[in-house]
Amino acid sequence: MSSNYTRRDFLKVTSCSTAIAGISCMTGTLGSLGAQTISGSTKFVRSYCEMCTSRCQIEGKVVDGKSVFIQGNKYSKGMGTSVCARGAAGHSQLYDPQRLVKPLIRVGKRGEGRWKEATYEEALNLIAKKMMKIKEEYGPQAVLFSSKTGEHFSHLSTFSKAFESPNLFSHHSHCPIAYKVAFKHTYGTGLKRDFSKSKYILNFGHNLFEGINVSSTKKLAKAAASEKTKLVVLEPRFSIVAAKADEWHSVKPGTDLAFVLSLIHVWLRDGKYDKEFVQRYTVGIEHLIESTKTTTPQWQEKITGIKADVAERVANELYKAAPNCIIDWGHKTTTGQSEYQRTRAILIANALMGNIEKEGGLFFKKKAKTCNKLAGIDIAPTITNPDKHFETPKTLRVDRASLKGSDNAFVGRNQGVLMDIPKAILNKDPYEVKGWFMIRTNPLITVADPKTMKEAMHKLDFIVVTDVYMSETALMADVVLPEATYLERDEGIMDKSSSKPTYMIRNKIVDPINNTLASHEIFRTLAKKMGIDKDYKWDNILQYRVQQAKGNDKLLKELMSKGYVSYSIPTLYYREEKYVKDFVNKYPNARKYLDEDGLMGSMLDNLKTPSGKIEIFSQQVEEEFKGYGVPRDDNNMDVTRGYPYILTSGKSAIHTNGHTHNVPYLNMLMSDNPVWINPQTAKKENLKNGDKIYLENDIGKEKGTVFVTEGIRPDTLFVYMGFGRESSDLKRTNGIGTNQSKLLPLIKGPVCSTMVTNVGVKITKA
Ligand code: SF4
Repeated sequence: MSSNYTRRDFLKVTSCSTAIAGISCMTGTLGSLGAQTISGSTKFVRSYCEMCTSRCQIEGKVVDGKSVFIQGNKYSKGMGTSVCARGAAGHSQLYDPQRLVKPLIRVGKRGEGRWKEATYEEALNLIAKKMMKIKEEYGPQAVLFSSKTGEHFSHLSTFSKAFESPNLFSHHSHCPIAYKVAFKHTYGTGLKRDFSKSKYILNFGHNLFEGINVSSTKKLAKAAASEKTKLVVLEPRFSIVAAKADEWHSVKPGTDLAFVLSLIHVWLRDGKYDKEFVQRYTVGIEHLIESTKTTTPQWQEKITGIKADVAERVANELYKAAPNCIIDWGHKTTTGQSEYQRTRAILIANALMGNIEKEGGLFFKKKAKTCNKLAGIDIAPTITNPDKHFETPKTLRVDRASLKGSDNAFVGRNQGVLMDIPKAILNKDPYEVKGWFMIRTNPLITVADPKTMKEAMHKLDFIVVTDVYMSETALMADVVLPEATYLERDEGIMDKSSSKPTYMIRNKIVDPINNTLASHEIFRTLAKKMGIDKDYKWDNILQYRVQQAKGNDKLLKELMSKGYVSYSIPTLYYREEKYVKDFVNKYPNARKYLDEDGLMGSMLDNLKTPSGKIEIFSQQVEEEFKGYGVPRDDNNMDVTRGYPYILTSGKSAIHTNGHTHNVPYLNMLMSDNPVWINPQTAKKENLKNGDKIYLENDIGKEKGTVFVTEGIRPDTLFVYMGFGRESSDLKRTNGIGTNQSKLLPLIKGPVCSTMVTNVGVKITKA
């Protein structure tokens, strides 16, 4: 990737905390404070990262009150001292002269970027007054609340409930909603992957080497390098996970569903699936037999471009490796309209292989409550949510999420659909929206059709944005509140259990620069100023932590010192003899949970689905969305919309969605996102490396720079997400690169309401 930095520039930003004067004097930024001495502790502090949502455990080294080095937290076995580039660059964001450290109140027109600096007191008073005025005149539902998920989302959720607005939105609808909904409908809850012991991993573009989660990435890297594990990757481009695979198949974007349906066809045709498992734990196999009768390997070849014999072979190889195999559903991958069906088909394919609660397969989380119950003693402490008594308002949401008969019937009331916000505001449907309170979310970069989103924002009376940078969305606000970065704030305990009960906590590594506030302090203070805080049972984060820990000071002390506590119990897979034996030997009380066969398979007898079984066929889905009760060919896999090329996008290992592109170190590592184009396509369009182009469709036109590579299909283009920035206050990244969101229509995938991110475009020379 191109970068225009010199060594001198690099030295400037690495020493910015002592040399910030003169680098930036933008209103409200750290640069405008001039040289500062930062005070704080002088030790190692353990916490967890927030440079992306993977929340890896970290250790920060603090010298003379300054955060100088970040690495993985050695107390977390999965992490060790590893950390990714973004995690290691946390202090580059912390000490960036361009970050916001003073509240700002708009003085110009909305979006014009003219501000006056304010104190938190002044800004919070204004917010409390304006939001309460809207509440009194139009009702609490007239204010929207949105944020990406994380601890601050829980506090925002409580604040929105105290305000009595039903309109709380997370980032799920433009990120992980498809697999969240598909899991709920199939298993009732999520499952984890045991990469370490898997013999065969079929990966549908789950690129853990770029969409990183350090401990999972390390496990997959180990598996990929092992002779004992076969890794097969289906992805339109030669990504890093594809490069580490035994086989890469360049699937046509949006068509994964066809490949999975053909695997299922082969297994059912040949009787090669775990019949005993299916009989005991699932419902609806007869519907699947019917829906996959014609989804042959030959049928899929015409759709995916992958040869029929490959599908036939992969089906047989998986069956041979079963149950020690994983068919990986990924995070957000094909993102066409068939995303829900594709993910449901993958989850069901795993059940057919009988790999649930098996070594090298999939398993349910083992939280403290379950382990204590099975062991008959308290192995690990449990925690609670001090805000659990706050109720979600029952009033109609603007997106009608969870309302039977609506297109968002299966979207949670605490998640919502961000793509439906513009329509609701512009059409005043189902009612008028007047205000929007946002934290760490930038819909003008990350949500489809930002033009319409911006038009809707212009209609609002009052917008508050809390962020670390002056994002495109912050520019549209009436009040911008700077947020303390994750290195400057204490937060509550987080349950991080996977195969063992595990907790972590965010500990402040340095004192907040210019006394910037944490999100929980902002919401708690606002609730008080608005007079809506009677149900809060805590005033500060220490009280919150103590209540979470149920007064268990041993747990709290350990977390405050180590940042991470995991309880050493034998790993337990309910259907794996060796594991069950080890657990029972250590905890003899667990004997009463043994089935006749000496296993604990009956732990899967009462799942959180309507039938209590793994639902291959879902009656509730069929009733709401006819034809979607069981995965089938839904004729919905074409994402081109009549255009010659499919533009796809994805995560990079250097940046996170719309969030880190202006962070000095990370911007130096990757400062642009040229458009990947196959040499055949380049020839056809008369293009060469570095040429300037436009990508265009009926939604918009966006500039780009050509990057010719064999690592992409001729009918497909690819860009990394989060570039093409328009905020002039993001000095390093403004105006550089391509923002694919500008070309995305406000189309949702059926059933799960996921944002569709693969889109048809044409190319023209700039
Ligand atoms: S993957 Fe990297 S950026 Fe994300 S939480 Fe982990 S260390 Fe931080």
